[in-house]
Amino acid sequence: MTEPASPDRSDGLPTKTVDAVVIGGGAAGLNGALMLARSRRSVVVIDSGTPRNAPADAMHGFIVLDGTPPGEILERGRRQVRHYGGRIVTGEVVSAAPSTPSAQGDPRFTIGLADGRTLTARRVLVATGLRDELPDVPGLARHWGHSVVHCPYCHGWEVRDEPVGVLATGPASVHHAWLFRQLTDDLVYFARGTELDADTRARFAARGIRVVETPVREVVDDRSGALAGVRLTDGSVVERRVLAVVTRARARTEGLEGLRLPVEELPDAMGSRFVSALAGSTEVPGVWVAGNATDPTAQVGAAAAAGALAGARINAALATADTDAALAAAQEPPTP
Ligand SMILES: Cc1cc2nc3c(=O)[nH]c(=O)nc-3n(C[C@H](O)[C@H](O)[C@H](O)COP(=O)(O)OP(=O)(O)OC[C@H]3O[C@@H](n4cnc5c(N)ncnc54)[C@H](O)[C@@H]3O)c2cc1C
Repeated sequence: MTEPASPDRSDGLPTKTVDAVVIGGGAAGLNGALMLARSRRSVVVIDSGTPRNAPADAMHGFIVLDGTPPGEILERGRRQVRHYGGRIVTGEVVSAAPSTPSAQGDPRFTIGLADGRTLTARRVLVATGLRDELPDVPGLARHWGHSVVHCPYCHGWEVRDEPVGVLATGPASVHHAWLFRQLTDDLVYFARGTELDADTRARFAARGIRVVETPVREVVDDRSGALAGVRLTDGSVVERRVLAVVTRARARTEGLEGLRLPVEELPDAMGSRFVSALAGSTEVPGVWVAGNATDPTAQVGAAAAAGALAGARINAALATADTDAALAAAQEPPTP
């Protein structure tokens, strides 16, 4: 696994059992693979090429890389993993399940790709990220990642002082309003039928946040296609340049059901995540999970750090298994 490779081609899939497969090649998966490859582990990253922040022009809030286009970060990450012998395969995992362990009891997993190819690995790092589900408001989705934003730390500075509207989706939107109020004095809260108690209304009033109770019909654009505001069901338009939404964050679990990783629903219908414990370990022996697939709040830095930690733990588990196997072989009686 040491041949040099250009950053954008898909590497071949090994036919032999590899030490680790990483499902998902975003910040979490690539950093996990980097740790494994640098520990001289044979590692294959399988990535379907749809990272969560793909719509964004630049990544913010992570020191040194702040302002870098997301695609450039991933391209550099892939190059670094390949530099140490890791393979990056373009493809979608559609099946993953434990298979027969080695004679010494070391786990094995069979990973199936959409194109029919398969791979056998000793350990699995799931780093498939999450899917953001937007509220069902006509015209909203086309501005996602630009004028429709979810994260004050990712895009907040870029939309400072703009007329911003919070499209409420549930209790978390109130907290969202406090965070966006820090960035602009011109904030409208579209309640969209969500509950607002007297204390919250008093707090909104104290911070100069206008509450609109009339339901939202659609997002409207100006002639150039830029977001211009929100049309209400009474036909009036509230002018806005930016809309903030708390999305429902659903872990990307498709194709991984065979691993039997527990998935839990998040409070207040905020989405779902793979359940994990320390350093991304799971209750399924041999399987770790990192990044947004298990922590929907992780930004790029936190996702990368979680991937690195899980990669290191996988390497440690493999080192123990290798030593157990060596000891068992050393203690075998010599064949007559
Ligand atoms: C619009 C937007 C802007 C953002 N801006 C910022 C920002 O400025 N700063 C910041 O720190 N964070 C930002 N984020 C958050 C950032 O996207 C996440 O923190 C980061 O993507 C999490 O990395 P990850 O590796 O867990 O998941 P991802 O980056 O989503 O990577 C997961 C990868 O797994 C692949 N995959 C999924 N399922 C399969 C499968 N079955 N088989 C093969 N591959 C699979 C996907 O194709 C994808 O490439 C933003 C998010 C959004 C939505």
